[in-house]
Formats: sequence, structure tokens, C-alpha cells
Amino acid sequence: MPEAVRVIYIIGAGRSGSTLLDTVLASHPDVVGVGELVNLHSAGWTSNEVCACGKLGAECDFWTRVREGWQRRVPEATVEGYVALQKRIELFSGLGLMQLARMLRQRFSPTADFQAYLRQTEALYHSIAETSGKSIIVDSSKHPIRGALLAHLRGIDLRLVHLVRDARAVVWSRKKALEADQKSGVQFAIKPRSAWHSVAFWAFMNVLAVITCLFRRRQSLQMRYEDFVAEPQAQLERLGRMCGLDYSATAHALLTGQSLKVEHPIAGNRMRMKGSVTLKPDWEWRDRLPVRDRAVCWLCAGWLLLAFGYGRNRVRKQMPASASPSWFASIWGCFARSTAKR
Ligand SMILES: [Zn+2]
Repeated sequence: MPEAVRVIYIIGAGRSGSTLLDTVLASHPDVVGVGELVNLHSAGWTSNEVCACGKLGAECDFWTRVREGWQRRVPEATVEGYVALQKRIELFSGLGLMQLARMLRQRFSPTADFQAYLRQTEALYHSIAETSGKSIIVDSSKHPIRGALLAHLRGIDLRLVHLVRDARAVVWSRKKALEADQKSGVQFAIKPRSAWHSVAFWAFMNVLAVITCLFRRRQSLQMRYEDFVAEPQAQLERLGRMCGLDYSATAHALLTGQSLKVEHPIAGNRMRMKGSVTLKPDWEWRDRLPVRDRAVCWLCAGWLLLAFGYGRNRVRKQMPASASPSWFASIWGCFARSTAKR
């Protein structure tokens, strides 16, 4: 059996700064960042969207070689078949809790679909490791269900980074409409979302991320975007300890204003199309988010904002050790011990 590939999976809600974190983590010489891998088969290989290198998905050398390596490992797989498996196994139905319940059931009597999904997903990560020549992959898909599913793979050494950003910043980001522009990384026109919709999405994804991380408490950490941009050195030390990597050179580069190169993420925030990124905190929401939308955030998700250490007017210096009460974590830990690997 091939050696396990280490995957650093960024989990949480969209618009939380995961493209920035993906690029920063991928600046280590042993690491490759692939963006939102969850969308590779649909966006990159079916819709032929533009890779961050500027080429179309079907023309990018990196992703072409990844696809060849993937097909060699799982000759029975097809791109369309994998997308169909994703729809059945990864995507939310109802409150997403159905998938979690289904995963627990699969632990005891896995279906052919579930086994095919696991086999093909594992083969994808191994092909990326082989193609890139790197032993560690950063996947910023964020999707909590996919994060939970990766824990079932024996060939994956999974580390989870739950990236949290203030709900008010996410609401502000999702209020902006974007015109479709392939070259700048916006594949489809994006409609503005209401504060109600965005804060519900934020709370839902983050609660699922907390639950997913409870299954792997020793191989996961929570990190706030605000802490990362304010004190990158300390946060990279935390990340480095969990992932077994030394990020001191990256921290120095960020603190001295150097830019970090973006390689081949095929999907994700349009920031990936700029070729490189620098650490530039985004506090626009503080000046521009209307009072009414702030009130919606507190009304719908004030309890979760407080749990993550966000105050009405400021961010607490220290993030709480855990966003979930310790008694809940203990009960969940007992429950989770029986579910780790297929
Ligand atoms: Zn590319």
C-alpha cells in the first residue's frame, strides 16, 4: 500500500480568507496548494474553467498530468461518474445532518457508491502528490462533509484547519455583486446575498465544521482570519506544529511585505488569478456594513460570534480554546472514537 499523503484541509464557511491561507501554506517547499479541490472535476475538467496559471483546465499541464495519474490508479473512474458520486455523497440535503448520519451508517455497511467515492478521492490526492513531487497537499474546499469523509481514507493523513472569519465580514463580502469574467476568476455572475441568507450560511457551515473537527481533536485547530492577518508568525507556528512543518521563512516573507506565488488552484476566490498574494488585512466591513445588517448578524448568530470570541465592537485578544462546551466535546469524543477509519 502506498505511503499516506498528508492533506491539510481548510474547513469552514466561504469568504473567510481560505485562498490567502491556502497560498501561504503552499509557500513551504514540501507543500502544494490546490485551491477548492471539491470543484476540480466539475469546474476544471467538465466546464473547462481557467486555472490560476492562466490556462484552461483541459490545457493546464499540471492538471492534465494529475488526471492521467488519477485514471491510471482508478481505471474504472470517469469524470462524470465522480461528479455524480459527489452529488450523492458530498452535497447537502436537508440540513446536512443527513450526510453525517449516512456516514456513520456507512461505517458499518458501506455501499458500493461510498467505497467507489473513497477509492477515487484517495487516488486523486495520491496523483496530486506524485505530479507535484510534494508530500503535503493543501485543499481549501472548506466543505465540512468532504472534510469528514476524508477522515475515512487510510491513504490520507488528515489535518483540519477550521478557518473562522467574523460573520459581519462574510455578510459584507456576500453583499457584493460580481460580473462574470473568466480571466479574473469569476466563472458566473454572482448575485448579492441578503444579510439573513449569509449569516445563516455562515452559522450553518461553521457549526458543521466544529462538529467535524470534534472527530479529530488532535489533528485539527481553529484559527480566526483576524488573528492570522494580525499576527501571522504566531499563527504559522501553531499551524506548523500541527502539520509538522517549519513556517519561519514564510512568516518572515509575510512580515516583510513579500508576495507569495500562486500555482495551480483551479477553483476558489478570484484572488488566486493575481499570480501572487501579499498579506493585506481586509477591514472594509467595519466602515461600510449597515447597522441593520450588523443587527441581523447578532440576532441570528450572536451566540456563535461570542463562542468564537467576537465582540460587538472588537475582536477579543484570545480566541476561546474551543468553540464548543467541554462537556459536549467529551461526549462527542466517546461517540467519535468508533468512527475514524474505514
Ligand atoms: Zn494550471
